[in-house]
This record gives sequence, C-alpha cells and structure tokens, in this order.
Amino acid sequence: MALKTAKEYVESLRRLKLDLYMFGEKVENWVDNPVIRPSINAVAMTYKVAHEPELEELASTESMLTGEKVNRFASLFKSTDDLVKKVKLQRLLGQRTGSCFQRCVGMDAVNAVFSTTYEMDQKYGTEYHQRFRAWLAYVQGNDLCVQGAMTDVKGDRGLSPSKQVDLDMFVHVVERRSDGIVIRGAKANQTGTVNSHEMLVMPTLRMTEEDKDYAVSCAIPTDAEGVHLIYGRQSCDTRKLEEGDIDVGNYAFGGQEVLTVLDNVFVPWDRVFMCGEHDFSVMMVERFAGYHRQSYGGCKPGIGDVIIGAAAAMADYNGVPRAAHIRDKIAEMNHLVETLHACGLACSTEGWKTSAGNYQSDILLANVCKQNVTRFPYELCRLAEDIAGGAVVTVPSEKDFRHPVVGKYIEKYLKGVADVPTEDRIRMLTLIHCMSFGLTAPSYRTESLHGAGSPQAQRIMIERQTDMDLKKRLARSLAGIDKREDVLA
Ligand code: SF4
Ligand code: FE
Repeated sequence: MALKTAKEYVESLRRLKLDLYMFGEKVENWVDNPVIRPSINAVAMTYKVAHEPELEELASTESMLTGEKVNRFASLFKSTDDLVKKVKLQRLLGQRTGSCFQRCVGMDAVNAVFSTTYEMDQKYGTEYHQRFRAWLAYVQGNDLCVQGAMTDVKGDRGLSPSKQVDLDMFVHVVERRSDGIVIRGAKANQTGTVNSHEMLVMPTLRMTEEDKDYAVSCAIPTDAEGVHLIYGRQSCDTRKLEEGDIDVGNYAFGGQEVLTVLDNVFVPWDRVFMCGEHDFSVMMVERFAGYHRQSYGGCKPGIGDVIIGAAAAMADYNGVPRAAHIRDKIAEMNHLVETLHACGLACSTEGWKTSAGNYQSDILLANVCKQNVTRFPYELCRLAEDIAGGAVVTVPSEKDFRHPVVGKYIEKYLKGVADVPTEDRIRMLTLIHCMSFGLTAPSYRTESLHGAGSPQAQRIMIERQTDMDLKKRLARSLAGIDKREDVLA
C-alpha cells in the first residue's frame, strides 16, 4: 500500500475499537471529540508532509526491509544522513504544529528493538529479529502509526520490579503459553496511544535475573482485548469544549498523553520480541533513550521557533520591537533554540552503524541534547512571558470579547499599536499562554523536563558514557605527572 494521506490516516483510526475513557466517560467517537481531535491533527501532519513534493526527501525514505518508499516515521535509519533528516523533519513539524506530533516515539522504538533483537538472537539463537522484521514490514506496508510504550508506572521507586508490593507496577509476563504470552501492568504518560494503530512495548529499565519476567518487548494493537486507555488531562483542556477558538490559543493542534492499562493482554509469539532476556533490557532502554533524546533536538527547537515568533509579534503589537532589551531577549531565545538543534544534529552526524545494520544516534551527545531540553524551554517561556506582558495570564475570554456590552471595552483597552487589531493581540497572548502552560505538548515546559526521561536519567547516562580515565590522563600528562614523549625540547 502507498503512503497514507492525512485523510486516510484519520479514517483508519475510525476502524479501531478502542476502550477509551475521559472525564469519567467511555468515549465512543473519539476521532471527532473536540478535546482529542487537535492531537489527531498533529499526527495527521506527519502523513500530510510525506505527500508534499518539496518535502518528499525529508518526510519519506526507502525502506531498509523492502526497498519500498515509506514514511520516515515508520522507517529504519540507514545512515547518519537519515538521522539528520529525522531531526530536521521534527523541527519542521514542531514549527507547523506548535505541539507534540506524537509519532516519533514509535519510530525511535522500532529502531531500538530492531538492533537489540538482532544482538539477542546472536547470543541466544532466538528468532526475535526475524519476527520483528515481519511485524515492521506489516507496519510499513500499511503506513501504521506506532506508539512506543516504555515508561512503567513504577510504584515504589526504591524497589525493583519483582520486589514491589503490587507486582503489576511494571509490565510483566504472567503466563507463557504454547501460542504466546499474557502480560499485565500499565504504561504511564504514553504519547499518542489513542492516535496509534499499534503499540510497541519495551522494558523501562535495566533488569536482573530476578526481574526476568519484566524483561518483555512485544507489539500489541491498541484495540486488543484487555487494553484500557485513560486520557490524561492537560491544563486548560476544557477550553476546547467552549464556543470559539481564541481562548484555546493553538486551536488546531495539540499533544496527547494516556495511561495505558494492559490487563492480561494475550500476545501471540510472532509479536514477542523479548521474553526473559533480562541482560538485553538495558541495551533496548539505552538505545531507545538515545534516539528519543536525539528527537528532542528536533521537535523542541521547532516549537521554540513558534514561541519566539509569538514573542516577537507581541513586541511589534506593543510597539517596542526596537527596544534594546527586547532585541537582546529575542537574540537569547534564538541562541537557545539553535543550541538545542545543534545538539540534535551533532548526535545524528556522530551516529554509528549497529550490527543489525541500522544507525544509532551518539548516545552521549543525545543525552547532552535532552539535558539542555530540560532547561532551555523554561527560559524560552520565561522570556516570552516577559516580552508579552502579564496579560498572558489575565486576558478576558472570547465570550467577553464578543459580548454586546463589554466587548467594546476590551476592543478599546486591550489595543496596542493602532494598526494591529485587538483580536490579533489577544490571539497572540492566548497562543503564548497555551504553549507555555499547557495544551500543546501537553506543556512545552513539563514535557521538556520529563519526556524522554527526567533530568537525572540523562546525568546517569552522561556519567556512564564519558571516558573519565581519558580526561584524567590528559590532565596528568599536562601537569607533568605522566611522562610524555611528544613535547619538543
Ligand atoms: Fe516527537 Fe517531540 Fe512529541 Fe517526542 S515530544 S513524540 S520527539 S514531537
Ligand atoms: Fe515526548
């Protein structure tokens, strides 16, 4: 099948029979639900760009499995050039949607599971890799959206999976049958599950022998028996239920996070890609994290570009675009987003070929990238709020703006420069509000902090990946403690 169009993607979602709950009710027509639809529009953009002739090279590629043309979000990375294109595509989509477009997690998971299963088979003589290739060919052939399911709910963070009071705090195998396995547990903060056809389950951390039932990776249709989805709230989400679109800010696009419950879900063997090989869980986790922390060097600068544009527009509307301190703040904002993107590009060009043949982003640099992402978006939001002014959090509602009695006062008193309509100024304020506080990714800030792993996770990886012996040797040598031969007399 050719690449799906955005419309075909949306229609394909209607065929899923999800068990989805939101605001205490089962949601039947979730595709047209006003709270959920913006997040579907954001994913749909990943399908749309693949059909734009000028973006063809960025948004689609040749399948490493079949040689067919596939959407980049369903592809294996065949080179460092593919890794670079991935990050550039993510920046472009961040700019287009101003939100999380959700499909990267699956792309990153696919690449991590591909290379890990290959190495598992080499060591254990298992057949996970062949199974995975067959499943991925099905995903690519149907241009499916895959959700990468890693983050377990974790319970008591001080205890390992098998030592928890409730043994379901990490997804685990509860039964091994001749035809497959049964798994139970829940994955938290799952990006885009409701908008995906498949989920690719992975372990969430390094596992030991006693936790081997928790070392499990498999693919599950999002509407499989036993999968229950509970929609995550976002700040200001009920604004989407109101009449009008001004108060929503980014009225067309948004992110989505879901609590995904796996209640005794049966998975046939041909969809199982790890089952007890606990010594490979860390490889899968670190490679996935390496990819997804690279991804943040694409989407986050893209969304940052929109915030910078909104801040600069507010400076124009307020009549102060040439003020020295405003220009300096805008310059600082641009420096921040370009630094994020530079990190995303750096870990891509420094990528390396795995034994399975696909390319892995440089794990140290990807973690440095994500560590910066845990900080810079906060500063970007702070500067945008600074430039825009306090009205970001005090602007009256659209209903008041349209009101026959008080509307005229808002029109008059919230005006900035004479030639910009008050409505434009209010729209820009609510855009900054929504991007800064919620509704987009779901929030540019908190998502940047915890998405793809909380800050400490990167610091652990930075420590693990850094060659400290080398650095000490360098210092010892220059201090004259170690003898060296390469100094000219
Ligand atoms: Fe993609 Fe960024 Fe959303 Fe992750 S947070 S799925 S990288 S857009
Ligand atoms: Fe994310």
